[in-house]
Amino acid sequence: MNHKITLMKRISFLLAFILCSFISFSQTKDPIVESIVKEANENSQLEKLAHELIDGIGPRLVGSPQMKQANDWAIAKYTSWGIPVRNEKWGEWRGWERGASHIDMVYPRVKSLEGMQLAWSPSTGGKAVIAETIILPEFADSLAFQKWLPSVKGKFVMISMSQPTGRPDYNWEEFGTKESFEKMKKARTEQTEAWTKRITNTGKTTRTLPVALEKGGAAGIITSLWSKGFGANKIFGAYTKKIPTVDISLEDYGMIYRLTESGIKPKISIKADSKELGLVPTFNTIAEIKGTEKPNEYVMLSAHFDSWDGANGATDNGTGTLTMMEAMRILKKVYPNPKRTILVGHWGSEEQGLNGSRAFVEDHAEIVANLQALFNQDNGTGRVVNISGQGFLNSYEYLSRWLSKVPESIRTPIETKFPGTPGGGGSDFASFVAVGAPAFSLSSLNWSYGTYTWHTNRDTYDKIVFDDVRNNAILAAIMAYAASEDPNKTSRDKSIMPVNTKTGELTAWPEQKKATRKGGVD
Ligand SMILES: [Zn+2]
Repeated sequence: MNHKITLMKRISFLLAFILCSFISFSQTKDPIVESIVKEANENSQLEKLAHELIDGIGPRLVGSPQMKQANDWAIAKYTSWGIPVRNEKWGEWRGWERGASHIDMVYPRVKSLEGMQLAWSPSTGGKAVIAETIILPEFADSLAFQKWLPSVKGKFVMISMSQPTGRPDYNWEEFGTKESFEKMKKARTEQTEAWTKRITNTGKTTRTLPVALEKGGAAGIITSLWSKGFGANKIFGAYTKKIPTVDISLEDYGMIYRLTESGIKPKISIKADSKELGLVPTFNTIAEIKGTEKPNEYVMLSAHFDSWDGANGATDNGTGTLTMMEAMRILKKVYPNPKRTILVGHWGSEEQGLNGSRAFVEDHAEIVANLQALFNQDNGTGRVVNISGQGFLNSYEYLSRWLSKVPESIRTPIETKFPGTPGGGGSDFASFVAVGAPAFSLSSLNWSYGTYTWHTNRDTYDKIVFDDVRNNAILAAIMAYAASEDPNKTSRDKSIMPVNTKTGELTAWPEQKKATRKGGVD
C-alpha cells in the first residue's frame, strides 16, 4: 500500500517534471515579458496619445509652431510617467505656420476646390487673389519659353500634367478589360514622358520653373501631385518666394485643366493665410530611463517626430512616435531599473534629410560609441514584418537571441535578413549605421502606405491600425529590455560588403552625412 503510493507519487512527479520542461521549452516564461504584454494589452495609452498628438496638435512640419508644441507635449507626457526628458536644440529652421487655404473656381461657375498651399508657400497677404488660369505650353526650347514668359503676368499657371484617370491601377485591374487597362497605361506613359519633356524644354526643372514664373509676374502656381490612390495627393514644399503655390486634387485640377484647354478661361480665387515666423530653434526630444549596472551603455528607441503637413502625420511618423512612447511608458512601469540606460530619440526634421538624428550622432559621440542597439520604426502603421542586420556581421547572434523573447504571434511573421546590407538613408537608423553603431529598422507591413498615407493629404488618425501599433510597442519594449539585459556588449564587426556587379569594386559602407543645422533659408 505504502509502496504503491510512493510509486504513484514518483510517477506524478515525473509527469509534472516533463510537463514543466515542455512548457518552459515551448514558451520561455519571463515575468518582465509577460508584464510588458499585459500592460500593452490591458492598459494601452495608444488611442489617447494618438488623439492628443494627431488630432489635437496635428502635423509637425519642421520650424512650425506645431512641431514645438509636440516637443513640449512629449515633455509633459514623459514627465507624467516619471521619465526624465529634455528638448535638445540641434539647429534652426525657417519658421512658418500654415493658415487657412481657400481655393474656389469663380468662373464659369462657383465651385470650392479641394486644395491647399504647399508647405512654406507665401501667403496672399490677407486677401483673395482672383485670376485666370493658363497651362504651361509646349516650347521648342528655353528661348521660346523666355519669349513667352511675360504672358504669365497676372495669371495662375498650371504646371502639372492632368492625369488621364483618377482611378488607381488596382481598380482598373479589377474592373477594366485587359485591353482598355493596357491602352490607358500606354497613353499615360506617353503623356507623362511628353510632360517631362515640356518641363525640360523650358530650360528649368520642377524646382526652378516656379521661381522663373514668379519672376515673370505670375499670380500663383497651381500643381497637382497625385499619389495614385482615390483622393490622395502628396503635399511637399513650395519654391516661390512671393506668390502662392498650391496643390489641387486630381479631380479639381483635371476639371480646371480641361476648361482652360477648351478656351473657357476659368477664373480661380486663392486665399492663403500662412505666416512667416523668422528663424526658430529646432529640437530633438530625448527621454531616458537610467541604467543601474551599466549606465554608460545605451539601448535606444527611435522614431522621427516631424512630418509633412498635407494632413496630420498619422502614419509618418505618428505611429512610430506612439510605438516608442508607449514602449517607454511600459518599460518604466514594469522594468524601471534597467541594466543599461534606455533612451528614446524623437527626432526633428527627418523629412529634410535625417537632420535631427544626424545632429545627435555628431553631438553625442559618447552615447553612439556605447550604443548597445537602436531600434527605429518609420514606415507606417503596420505590424513589423522585416528586420535586417544592417550589415553587422554578428547581428544574427544577438538579434535572434533577443527576438526569441518576443511572443510567438509577434515574432513568427518577422522575416530577418542577416547580415543584410547597411541602409544609407530612408530613416534615422541610417544616421547611426553610417558611424558603425548597431542600429536597426523595425520595418512594417505596408497597408498601402506609399499610395495613401506617406506624405499625403490623407495621413490621418483613421488610418492607424491600433492592434498593429500595439504589436509594435510590445516588440520594441521587449527588444529594448532584452538588449539592456544582455550580458554581452554587441559586436560592431561589419560584414564584407558585396561586389558591385557593374564596377567590380566592393560596395562602400554608407558615409556619415552632416546635419543641416540652419534650414529653409538661402
Ligand atoms: Zn517618416
